[in-house]
Amino acid sequence: ASAFCFQDINKNYQSRDGLNVSALSNINFEVFKKEFVTVVGPSGCGKSTLLKILAGIVNASSGRIEINGMPQKGPSSEIGVVFQNPVLLPWRTILNNVLIPAEIQKRDIKESRKKAYELLDMVGLKGFETKYPKELSGGMQQRVGIARALINDPSILLMDEPFGALDAMTRELMNMELLRLKKRIGATIMLVTHSIPEAIFLGDRVIIMSPRPGCVEEIMDIDLPYE
Ligand code: ADP
Ligand code: ADP
Repeated sequence: ASAFCFQDINKNYQSRDGLNVSALSNINFEVFKKEFVTVVGPSGCGKSTLLKILAGIVNASSGRIEINGMPQKGPSSEIGVVFQNPVLLPWRTILNNVLIPAEIQKRDIKESRKKAYELLDMVGLKGFETKYPKELSGGMQQRVGIARALINDPSILLMDEPFGALDAMTRELMNMELLRLKKRIGATIMLVTHSIPEAIFLGDRVIIMSPRPGCVEEIMDIDLPYE
């Protein structure tokens, strides 16, 4: 079954000097439920734009997106997003940071707290619930960002260079853990990266974007030796 698909998606930005910049040109692809797809390409090829359009943060200039078989209309509660910088609220505990999207969606708070404890356990932060963001390392803060993205049970998890701000060692460790977590997360995952080894290591399929204008060059199946 289809988790989401892009149909003839184009995106032009207006630059400050009034020029039209093509960020995405005729993007067509489909991602199936529970797939882990990675999107790779050089800086500026439109990876973030692709992800932001799917998340409903940026509007496409033309084309159509379907999410779970329905036409996309703005930001969807089906989608959780993890950015490079988790931006945690410093005055809130770790637990209360994870709960923010649940509060915004006015979810049952007791249920959500239970879920937040489970998610923090899943990302390896059991015991850190009452700590504050400044007491955590960069890698740990990004784990909080992942738990926060999953609090409302999204069926789709989008990640934009999630470990890009971390040192190389932590980044590799986090990637290994992400692969391990994949099954427990249970969502369709799309992760954007400019690292080819990372894209191949993580993805069941790799969407390769060509530098200019942003378009899909090739979609490659990866036979995972890890399973
Ligand atoms: P990537 O994530 O692959 O680095 P982006 O999606 O961020 O690529 O950007 C694709 C292209 O669109 C680049 O040329 C970038 O400069 C341009 N772009 C992105 N966001 C904006 C914006 N808000 N306004 C104008 N141009 C933008
Ligand atoms: P990313 O790491 O997600 O690719 P960037 O560092 O390329 O992010 O861009 C950071 C922010 O600036 C994004 O919100 C993007 O939309 C915006 N942006 C990128 N390029 C341009 C541009 N040429 N003009 C205006 N805004 C831009």
